[in-house]
Amino acid sequence: MRKIMIAIDGYSSCGKSTLANALAKKLDYLYVDTGAMYRAVTLYCLQNNLIKEGKLQIRLLKESMDNIKIEFRNISGKERSATFLNKQNVENEIRKMEVSNEVSKISVIKFVREKMVRLQQQMGSQKGVVMEGRDIGTIVFPDAELKLFMTANIKTRVKRRYREMVANGIGVTLEEVKKNVISRDYKDTHRKESPLIQAKDAIVINNTLLSQDEQLDIAVKLAKERMAIT
Ligand code: C5P
Repeated sequence: MRKIMIAIDGYSSCGKSTLANALAKKLDYLYVDTGAMYRAVTLYCLQNNLIKEGKLQIRLLKESMDNIKIEFRNISGKERSATFLNKQNVENEIRKMEVSNEVSKISVIKFVREKMVRLQQQMGSQKGVVMEGRDIGTIVFPDAELKLFMTANIKTRVKRRYREMVANGIGVTLEEVKKNVISRDYKDTHRKESPLIQAKDAIVINNTLLSQDEQLDIAVKLAKERMAIT
């Protein structure tokens, strides 16, 4: 069967990573979490005082872009690959509320997006990749053989994200998570640069009432159909 590119886009916290990771495992494909890349740039800004009193120093960030090296590495015994920023494992830090609350300031910037998109296109150049984010089926790989657009109702998404953060030892309240998810959805869909929109040829998966296995079965079936087309 031929190798294909699978693009998964959708709103914050609607299970894109869970599905993308499981699908990549099932197909023996590479999994790329592009949100982690924007989060890693945000962490760099926080660590280097490029965000002062909530205001981003855009000029300084532009000058620093060549110093930001992001990679994904497999860690033995871990279900998912981890995000590395300048050779440091930052997987836990990039998931914290501090980063979630600032990431939309970074993901609107054109020069940041251009660099991330270039990296993502390199990672996917050989196909055999499941890549998830907000603009994968529209901007990064508009010719992806399979595009999925995921959604779920807000209550379910907030509950899932809250449980995931608590399970990872991150101290947060349900209200904080709700506020952040709603605010990021608004910013991601209303920004000028590559806003989150459903690609015309994407297949929608609403997983509010689906189990992880059920959504995986749907995605595997669709992927195998596309892989069989020569
Ligand atoms: O997927 P995740 O929620 O970790 O993404 C964090 C943020 O990164 C999003 O809210 C969005 O602002 C940004 N993002 C993006 N484009 C992508 C992936 C993520 O703008 N392809």
